[in-house]
Amino acid sequence: MNKIYSYQLAGKNKVSLSDYDPDDTGKFHSKAQALRDLAKHQEKLFELQELLYADASRALLVVLQGMDAAGKDGTIRHIFTGVNPQGCQVTSFKVPSPEELQHDFLWRVHRAVPARGMIGIFNRSHYEDVLVVRVHQNLSRKELANRFDEINAFEEMLVRNGVIILKFFLHISQEEQKTRLESRLHQRTKYWKVSPSDLAERQYWDDYLEAYEDVFRYSSSKDAPWYIIPANKKWYRNVAISQILVDALAALKLKYPKPKFKIARLKVE
Ligand code: AMP
Ligand code: MG
Repeated sequence: MNKIYSYQLAGKNKVSLSDYDPDDTGKFHSKAQALRDLAKHQEKLFELQELLYADASRALLVVLQGMDAAGKDGTIRHIFTGVNPQGCQVTSFKVPSPEELQHDFLWRVHRAVPARGMIGIFNRSHYEDVLVVRVHQNLSRKELANRFDEINAFEEMLVRNGVIILKFFLHISQEEQKTRLESRLHQRTKYWKVSPSDLAERQYWDDYLEAYEDVFRYSSSKDAPWYIIPANKKWYRNVAISQILVDALAALKLKYPKPKFKIARLKVE
């Protein structure tokens, strides 16, 4: 079995993040080696996405979660650069707007689910409602349990409707986060990414870990698994996630649709 599948959580089991090494680089010994494989994965993703689009019966939903500076933006940039923008849609979930807050927490999420034929990437997701909201708004145990039920029912419904769901937690260490946040303070081109709230959130690190461990425990399933991706090394994070995406799309064994009319009879005048 490829090492990356040991990062997969497919059942409702208790998870301790300390069992997962954020520095792991699997079978890769160098960045150069990983970049070669990433290039191959990008090429395959391009082909498989075209097929997904042509077939138009299934959709792929990629959920990206992680602490601040875990690399969600970078993951999207590096893995999906080669994919046809027409078949791919990224949604970044921010603090809910007043209108969004007037609805149930899944309202804005459901609208962003990819249509058949599309790849949808969630940069943050409905999971923020059991993460940041839990850490800061004191959800009761009952409210939290309800939200997990609602998330599971929602994802199950999507799966039944042909959506492939893959959920990735980009696992970085607290030291790595410090290095990344500090480096943003020292590069003019990174200032725009700096938010004082990210620095303040660091003091809640342990609360977030606990919240994430519950996410893994209560919302992993065979059809909508979580993957805890070692993400201290960006090149490993990219090669691991892209491999999982390629495998999932290839496993669909999609074929280009047959023509609905006799091609041989058609003539371009
Ligand atoms: P960024 O990902 O850096 O653009 O920041 C987006 C911010 O929006 C993060 O601080 C998230 O925690 C926050 N956010 C996203 N979804 C929610 C939500 N449902 N409730 C509260 N805050 C959220
Ligand atoms: Mg941020």
